Amino acid sequence: MTPCTRPDDQSRIQDDIIEEEEDGSEGRYMRNEREEDEDEQARHQEAQAADRQDEEELEAIHERNWYYLDALSERSTCAECGKPNPRWASYSLGILICIHCSGIHRSLGTHISKVRSLDLDEWNDDQMRAIREIGNRKSKEFWEALLPANFHVTKENVEQFVHDKYVHKKFIKK
Ligand SMILES: [Zn+2]
Repeated sequence: MTPCTRPDDQSRIQDDIIEEEEDGSEGRYMRNEREEDEDEQARHQEAQAADRQDEEELEAIHERNWYYLDALSERSTCAECGKPNPRWASYSLGILICIHCSGIHRSLGTHISKVRSLDLDEWNDDQMRAIREIGNRKSKEFWEALLPANFHVTKENVEQFVHDKYVHKKFIKK
C-alpha cells in the first residue's frame, strides 16, 4: 500500500472493481472497442492531415515549376530557329521551341523528341524539371558543339538542320 492511499480511496477502488465485474465482460469489451475506435480515428485523422500537407506542398512545387517554365519562355528564343517566346517544348531534350519547330520535332519520333505545348498540355514535375535542368543554352552547347559559327538557320534549311542535329548527330563532339 502506498502512503498516500487513504482507506476511503481503497474502498472506492474496491467498488470500481465490483462494478466492473457486475457490468460483465461484454460491457468491458464494448468500452475497449470504443477506445480502440477512437485511437484508430485519431490516427486516421493525423494521417489525413499529413496527406493534405503533402498534397499542398506538391501543389506549391508544381506551381513554382510551372511559373518558372512560363516565365522562361518569355525570355527565351526557339532552340532551333531563334524565334522569340517559344510556347512549345521538347521535354526529352529539355528545350523550348516554337510551334513550327515543334512540328519538325514531332517528325523525328518520340524516341528522339517528346513534344508538349505550354498552353495546351498538362505537364508533370519531371517534365518541367527537364527543361529547367537542361534548357536551350546547355542543349546547344552539346548538340551544336561543332556547328560552324557562320551557319544560319533559315525557313528553308531548318528542317534539315534539326534532322542533322538530332538524328545524324552531326554537330556533337565525339
Ligand atoms: Zn523554331
